[in-house]
Amino acid sequence: MIVTDIEANTAKRCELKAKVETSPEGSSELFYRLPDEFTQSIHVSADPFIAALLILSMRLGETLTVDAPASPRLLRALPKIMAYYHNWDPKYKIIDVRTAKGRQESDSTSRANALFFSGGVDSFYALTRLTEQTADRNHLSHLIFVHGFDIRLNNNMLFEKSYAAVKDVASYYGKKLVLVSTNVREITDKYVSWYRCYGNGMASVALCGLFRNVYIASDVGPNERYLAFTSAHPDLDSLWSTDTTALIHYGEGISRVEKAKALANNPMAQKHLRVCMENRNGAYNCGRCSKCVRTMLALYMVGALSNFNFPTELTPELVKAINYSPDPSIILHTEQILHELQRRGEDQLANALSQALNKDLSYEKEIDALRSELMGIKKCFGYKVMRLYGSVIDQALPDGTRRGELKRRVLHRLRGSS
Ligand SMILES: [Zn+2]
Repeated sequence: MIVTDIEANTAKRCELKAKVETSPEGSSELFYRLPDEFTQSIHVSADPFIAALLILSMRLGETLTVDAPASPRLLRALPKIMAYYHNWDPKYKIIDVRTAKGRQESDSTSRANALFFSGGVDSFYALTRLTEQTADRNHLSHLIFVHGFDIRLNNNMLFEKSYAAVKDVASYYGKKLVLVSTNVREITDKYVSWYRCYGNGMASVALCGLFRNVYIASDVGPNERYLAFTSAHPDLDSLWSTDTTALIHYGEGISRVEKAKALANNPMAQKHLRVCMENRNGAYNCGRCSKCVRTMLALYMVGALSNFNFPTELTPELVKAINYSPDPSIILHTEQILHELQRRGEDQLANALSQALNKDLSYEKEIDALRSELMGIKKCFGYKVMRLYGSVIDQALPDGTRRGELKRRVLHRLRGSS
């Protein structure tokens, strides 16, 4: 993978952009659009592009060449970052990273500190703790809201609604809000599930160099650190740091129920909490997906569910109907909630959640079947078709309900064209 034509600030806007060439896909443009006030802060650097594309290059097994100098500290950390991903999944190969020479590490010109803020439970929790429990209430000066991560660039309706909500939160807490638009996910999604990339996606935005410290809200609960890999992990996030910008994984070891308790009476969270990843029919929170229902259960257990805006009623039938992906950290979070429901004697909800979790043991079997299927496709149609099919399935994996339908459609098309 080759990154060239890196530009900071174009005639039209404050942005950092580059041309990205990948061997299977050809070339595309990767951009980070920032508010105009940062025109003086951004400069040509390899750092954001290394963070954006390292994991993708590892998945493709390609050397990553970036035509700009990089932070020496970041370059020194890359073997550790790659080892983390390779241990997580050996399909992510250890690769060479080449950059232009000539960068001296320099201290940050910015003294500002920012937190990535999506409006979810983890970022709301981090915002309240960083504001209320640090010696300097104003230590955290900015919130970063990214258009192009969980909210796709073409989903303007959800973006407008979410951005208005985050503006309200920033103003309530006296923080400046920084909107960043990027198409990094559109590029990584072609080959790698976002679940594997969101951490380095955030790192790439942080390394645009606007802030001294950038906080990433942790979703790692108690005793989970050594049980599950995630792409935003306490062992990983700080490795993306340069001498100019430090990345800080914040708020590890707090359970979902504890976080729900901390937010139970928070008027901003009650009004604006946004946890949904599916946004069915354009809903802010659909109230039916596993993330919505898991959050509803945590809020229910702290007696606060009725204060929050979910469009569904929490019933055993709703809980039983959800589909869980086999992602270990989601299973861990769900099991924590299950144990808490059992401890409190909430038998109906606990049984429903237990049934939903067990239902997904068959999901693992389905994945094994899919692997055999991919091998079959490779035999019949060749490696390229298999890779295309695999990338489509990869994108669909986070959503168990869409996956089967998608698989059927792609297979139908493949068989029709044979
Ligand atoms: Zn939802």
